Amino acid sequence: MTSDLVHHGESFDGTPLGFATKSIHLGNGVDAETGAIRRPITLANAYALPYDPSDINWSSSDVNLYTRNGHPNQRYLEAKLANLEGAEDAVVLASGVAALAATFTTVLNRGDHAIFSDTTYIAAYRLLNQILPEKYGIETSIVDTSDPRNIADAIRPNTKLVHIETPANPTLKVTDIEAAAKLAHDAGALLSVDNTFNSPFNVRPIDLGADIVIESLTKYINGHGDALGGAIATRKELTDQIRFTYQVNYGGIISPFNAWLINRGSVTLPLRMRQHNASALAIAKHLESLPQVRFVAYPGLESHPHHDVAARQLARPDSGFGGVLAFGLDTDHDGHNRFVSKLNVITSAVSLGHDESLIVFLGEDDERQYLYPPEFHRGFFRLAVGLEDTDDLIRDIDHALAEAEL
Ligand SMILES: *Cc1c(COP(=O)(O)O)cnc(C)c1O
Repeated sequence: MTSDLVHHGESFDGTPLGFATKSIHLGNGVDAETGAIRRPITLANAYALPYDPSDINWSSSDVNLYTRNGHPNQRYLEAKLANLEGAEDAVVLASGVAALAATFTTVLNRGDHAIFSDTTYIAAYRLLNQILPEKYGIETSIVDTSDPRNIADAIRPNTKLVHIETPANPTLKVTDIEAAAKLAHDAGALLSVDNTFNSPFNVRPIDLGADIVIESLTKYINGHGDALGGAIATRKELTDQIRFTYQVNYGGIISPFNAWLINRGSVTLPLRMRQHNASALAIAKHLESLPQVRFVAYPGLESHPHHDVAARQLARPDSGFGGVLAFGLDTDHDGHNRFVSKLNVITSAVSLGHDESLIVFLGEDDERQYLYPPEFHRGFFRLAVGLEDTDDLIRDIDHALAEAEL
């Protein structure tokens, strides 16, 4: 039975519990009414008011009032994620993009300046490169943050936020979190890190000096490809502001059902990450050995330009480099599509961090192509290695190469 001590991530003698124990027990508890050892899904939109409701703050998020103000399934998941990230608090919203937008719109005000990685999730790029500057008067600089000198050069007196994504989607560039945190802090700015590709099992940005960690829960933390969610782990002072602005007043709340699903999926995060890490490394090495493969980008390979930084940032002895890799074939546009059409186990679809392996062909016409290393310009795949048997995945790739006559 989950005790109060376990809820704080500690065992009876005060030693911290391990990641797997916490992934299972935090966020769960005995249901007071039924004695069930699984907390239920609470789907109500509204909660009973006290005798005199007249002094309730209708924008508060710490009392049960209305589901957009916060709800039990959200809070259970938040308690677990804050602990796994090593943060004071966490707030869970409707999607990873909601978490990105909430961070940017809460931290940045008109006239502020933000620096962000040249390779980020497309919505982060749209928000910082276009929507926030055009609609809200926020200045932004897009730089290759994998070289910290570019961050230093872009700092202005009004810089308030440095936002990095590491490893970056889809090129797998890695940024040195400690170096970025120091540069941001010396300038009086905050560092936010999109840690979706790593999950807190592989890398814990707050331990490396980051102020804010953003996770698309849709990916590894849920892990089963059946619910969207996003989390921001940071200081309570900031999560309070995010709840007030983005959750209550912009309406970015997660549904109770999705919060429950993600809480359940996250129970097996450490087991799944070990398998994703091991399988992706084996597949990256296999791809690197094939004559038809033009390049492979995976931070776990010694050939990756930022392998040393990536290895230094790992949170635990059994952490790895994640489940996503990019590679290109020595063929043309049609050859890449032909290869995908011959795969039987790996599915052609976007997203990542699911149980099943997913591949997407990113052709030659991405508007941000000029920001990618040159080998990406001829078209490439993003492969999100799933939890199938590694040998089945390798055979699927080899078979598709042969069938596609590459
Ligand atoms: C998928 C993804 C997001 C967006 O998350 P959603 O839950 O789809 O909104 C943000 N960042 C990264 C790195 C992602 O891969």
